[in-house]
Amino acid sequence: MITTGTNLLSRDVGLVWHPYAPLDAGAHYAVLEANGTQLVLEDAAGTRHEVLDGMSSWWSAVHGYRHRVLDAAVRTQLERFSHVMFGGLTHEPAIELAERLVEMTPNGLRHVFLADSGSISVEVALKLALQYQEAMGHTERHRFAALRGGYHGDTFAAMGICDPVDGMHSAFAQRSPSELFLPKPPAARRNAQGDWEYSVARLAQWEQETRELIAANAGQLAGIVCEPVLQGAGGMHIYPPAVLGILRELADQYDLVLIADEIATGFGRTGQLFAVQHAGIEPDIMCVGKALTGGYLTLAAMLCSSRIASALAGAKGATGSALLHGPTFMGNPLACAVACASLDLLAGDRSTAANDGPWRHQVATLESGLRAHLAPAADLAQVKDVRVLGGVGVIQLASEVQVSAVTEAAVQRGVWVRPFRDLVYVMPPYISTPDQLATLGRGVIGAVQQIHG
Ligand SMILES: *Cc1c(COP(=O)(O)O)cnc(C)c1O
Repeated sequence: MITTGTNLLSRDVGLVWHPYAPLDAGAHYAVLEANGTQLVLEDAAGTRHEVLDGMSSWWSAVHGYRHRVLDAAVRTQLERFSHVMFGGLTHEPAIELAERLVEMTPNGLRHVFLADSGSISVEVALKLALQYQEAMGHTERHRFAALRGGYHGDTFAAMGICDPVDGMHSAFAQRSPSELFLPKPPAARRNAQGDWEYSVARLAQWEQETRELIAANAGQLAGIVCEPVLQGAGGMHIYPPAVLGILRELADQYDLVLIADEIATGFGRTGQLFAVQHAGIEPDIMCVGKALTGGYLTLAAMLCSSRIASALAGAKGATGSALLHGPTFMGNPLACAVACASLDLLAGDRSTAANDGPWRHQVATLESGLRAHLAPAADLAQVKDVRVLGGVGVIQLASEVQVSAVTEAAVQRGVWVRPFRDLVYVMPPYISTPDQLATLGRGVIGAVQQIHG
């Protein structure tokens, strides 16, 4: 079998689906190698392209590819055992990872459910909130409040709390549960000095509408779900941390479970280890995923406070005290082992405070590089906004991006990006150097200018 890219692309099309794409769309490039911040691609004409990765494989490959330490962690665990069931059995990688997550997340989060993907961790979070309310005797509380503009995954319950207009609700309207949607919070930006800037009047209006909606529906609500500070796949929208303080207050007032979906924002990406820390609040439940294993294997986790866990522990009722979820590959040892190694790289070993780990300097380097090298985009006629938060840089156009054309123009300039809607954005691996960030900025801006003017 000749495995050139050309051959791979023709075997792929019509055979395997790609994310949110028609079966006959196929892929544009085959990956031949991935190393550090570099991807080696081959296109349909057989041309090889060495490109800098601007996407961290959707927020996940924060340490880059083929990392020596992560490769070794997988190999070491492979030589012990690669998988065992988690029912009735446990193992060191899972325990080590759970301890580590409890140590590095906000104080109140003490208990861990290891899920096999982000969407599943969201499903588990929603189930736990429902079981908590039932244990508290609130059997009529089975809806969730979620922010418009959000994204929480592709499974049915997760899909139900995604933005009702831009999400997938319209395609599955007959099945989507009727959740309560809170207005999309106003835009904010954090300037180079680290201060937050936003319209106080718009925030006040958001707060008033939100308080009214929650007050009117609280009797039916189990919890409030949000992506803290940065809504990702729903539109790369940055909002004031004060929003989280208001949601925390409302959750306390009405005994709602506050669920922070940190699957995209977790592990330093926004300039805090977890994005809730921009507001100094603690959620009752937090979901993490994506960067958890440094992009090596699929794994996510749901963490909750002792208040939630002990209410469930004391539950009688229809469901009893068990949390009703248990995937086959729960706590997969290979994934847990590489996650532990990835967290060591991010946060230093367990003797140091996670907040002061290497990630802080790395993300600060990304932030200043992205600020400097994406700023010129603001001068382009078709660019509506340029914004940077931590290791995320966003160029928003005045209209839909021509995705294939911009992707190809970026590859020609040695850069890998995957735009969506009106957004061309980058979230490079944390190991990216200042020079690489400059190349990334030039490549992305050049591609936008070539295609959109
Ligand atoms: C990606 C993402 C999910 C879903 O995670 P999967 O691993 O793709 O299932 C959920 N919430 C947020 C905020 C995400 O960015």
